[in-house]
Amino acid sequence: MSDDCIFCKIIEGTIPCAKVYDRGGIFAFLDIAPVNKGHVLVVPRVHYATLFDLPSDIGRELLGALKLVGRAVMQATGAAGLNVGMNNFEVAGQLVHHAHFHLIPRHEGDGLRLWTQHAYESGDEMQKLAQAVKQAIG
Ligand code: AMP
Ligand code: ZN
Repeated sequence: MSDDCIFCKIIEGTIPCAKVYDRGGIFAFLDIAPVNKGHVLVVPRVHYATLFDLPSDIGRELLGALKLVGRAVMQATGAAGLNVGMNNFEVAGQLVHHAHFHLIPRHEGDGLRLWTQHAYESGDEMQKLAQAVKQAIG
């Protein structure tokens, strides 16, 4: 529990939410400003700031909840697809520093473009970057 965290307050019930799931270590509720209606946030009950702070052993439970709640969101909204997203750190758009996954229902022709893509200057630039990532992985 982090005192200044809005999601911790939602989980403990001091701030209201439209809850959809609360089992084991995972909690989920509707995003108050949905990208599309039915947009859900799936969060661990325990406060961790980003993906990198999440203990790996929560992964199985989290993936199970993402699949269960994601399927339910699609069914309830009549969506034909679902985006699963996570923002980590402010530069990536993370506003709430309690790790969370966005489940965004998608409909044919909804016009949503999540990101724009670019080209590498050359194949060499791409290979160098792949090498740098491989090296960082170790
Ligand atoms: P992010 O930008 O990934 O940190 O996403 C934070 C999300 O939390 C945003 O999509 C907000 O709309 C949502 N949000 C903020 N406050 C609340 C709240 N009280 N209830 C539900 N969703 C919220
Ligand atoms: Zn929190």
